[in-house]
Amino acid sequence: MSYHCRVLVPVPFHYPPGAGARVGAGAGSPFPSASRALRLPRPRASVEKREQVAAMEEQGGQAALGWAARDDSGVLSPYSFSRRVPKDDDVTIKVLYCGICHTDLHVIKNDWRNAMYPVVPGHEIVGVVTGVGGGVTRFKAGDTVGVGYFVGSCRSCDSCGKGDDNYCAGIVLTSNGVDHAHGGAPTRGGFSDVLVASEHYVVRVPDGLALDRTAPLLCAGVTVYSPMMRHGLNEPGKHLGVVGLGGLGHVAVKFGKAFGMKVTVISTSASKRQEAIENLGADEFLISRDEDQMKAATGTMDGIIDTVSAWHPITPLLALLKPLGQMVVVGAPSKPLELPAYAIVPGGKGVAGNNVGSVRDCQAMLEFAGKHGIGAEVEVIKMDYVNTAMERLEKNDVRYRFVIDVAGSLGSAA
Ligand code: NAP
Ligand code: ZN
Repeated sequence: MSYHCRVLVPVPFHYPPGAGARVGAGAGSPFPSASRALRLPRPRASVEKREQVAAMEEQGGQAALGWAARDDSGVLSPYSFSRRVPKDDDVTIKVLYCGICHTDLHVIKNDWRNAMYPVVPGHEIVGVVTGVGGGVTRFKAGDTVGVGYFVGSCRSCDSCGKGDDNYCAGIVLTSNGVDHAHGGAPTRGGFSDVLVASEHYVVRVPDGLALDRTAPLLCAGVTVYSPMMRHGLNEPGKHLGVVGLGGLGHVAVKFGKAFGMKVTVISTSASKRQEAIENLGADEFLISRDEDQMKAATGTMDGIIDTVSAWHPITPLLALLKPLGQMVVVGAPSKPLELPAYAIVPGGKGVAGNNVGSVRDCQAMLEFAGKHGIGAEVEVIKMDYVNTAMERLEKNDVRYRFVIDVAGSLGSAA
């Protein structure tokens, strides 16, 4: 389900009715369905699901080695499974690098009550094509490619028709999703050595980009780039606020600067000020908990991208917008944000959500990154460090994205 809304209201996640059913939590929605958020009983689909999984795995696709979380401790450990037998339009990809998004952390810890264990996380994937089905037209063995947050959509609804496949009700997430077109099997993500995906959800990585620094762009990059394009937050001279200087936020700063904007970071971490200005090119840096600093910036921003992963007050952020300014919420705290009418009505301000970006946006974002030499700031790790990395991510101790050297950790999948 889409996470696109004009106005956030103070109720638990307000996803469309039925989101918890066939294409519900973990399947269509990256976030919890309302019923999961309210912790109502789970649908009795687990036996059926186990059978579907068994059926899928008996199909004898390529053996894969990944790391999976088995329960809400979130602890990851080695996990063997099979990829599906490739179809005509499928591309087989040897995974080289996979970023660790905070969404992976939310999911393995079951923050959103939608985890379908075992969960193999990972949706910021860069790899090399090792095989293509007979109907594949856009890729060949040896191509360097990326796979992001989703690997399927219905391809017949209004959203898909408009190229907004990221808002398709039948979206199939790359990890912890339900693969409707392939027996309803749960999807396993990029913390694994091999992936099979339809070519329609695979993007080309432009030459010249460092592959480890590109992996986070497949989710973090497109999640900020897409709403910046949609809301006109890509125009030189405009003033952009970026709330939360993490994986998403630091890439938003880079895109904002590449668009020629004035960029102000709004952060809880004073220790990030120097890097934000000297290394990432931000123009200004506000501490969100410093009332004087926030007051001095009232009414100065054309747009704000809010990437914060935990609950936080948004009224002080909305005060930073000019009249008719636009806030875009991309962070996904499990606790609902509060939106008083007075924070948006007098200034005619907008609050929108954004769910990653379409495949088309993702390709355009990569081309833009290639042209402007944009990559994430990364700490490259081996897979056996992943549990420590998750702990550090939870403590806001990463500058600014962990990326797993998957091929260097799990050997080579042919
Ligand atoms: P991240 O690297 O952990 O960054 C989140 C940042 O939020 C932190 O660096 C921190 O920045 C700030 N923060 C953390 N706790 C906070 C608190 N209690 N109050 C205020 N600020 C706090 O996470 P990420 O990978 O960028 O993801 C951010 C969020 O976006 C997650 O909820 C994730 O699930 C979501 N997400 C959504 C989409 C989408 O399509 N909408 C896509 C990807 C991710 P400072 O230190 O600067 O304060
Ligand atoms: Zn992500």
